[in-house]
Amino acid sequence: MVWDVSYTCDICGKKKGESNHWWMLLLGDVPCYDEGQPHQAFTILPWNSAESRNPEMRHLCGQNCAMKALERFMTTHNVDRELAEAD
Ligand SMILES: [Zn+2]
Repeated sequence: MVWDVSYTCDICGKKKGESNHWWMLLLGDVPCYDEGQPHQAFTILPWNSAESRNPEMRHLCGQNCAMKALERFMTTHNVDRELAEAD
């Protein structure tokens, strides 16, 4: 089996191999939110090879990184490592 697309965990940077405990994370807009609250919804989706090519999807290598992403989302409102640690 040849992998035409290689995926990297958006949290820890691990590369996806053949084992599949991976999940996808989608940050969606919410219609209304209070001032100072995150204006996105945190959605975990089961891995799907077609959807995983969607540029809006973040890729998570497993439960640990999903928990880390959720923690970042709830504390910094941002799951992206570089941006979250920028200031
Ligand atoms: Zn990871």
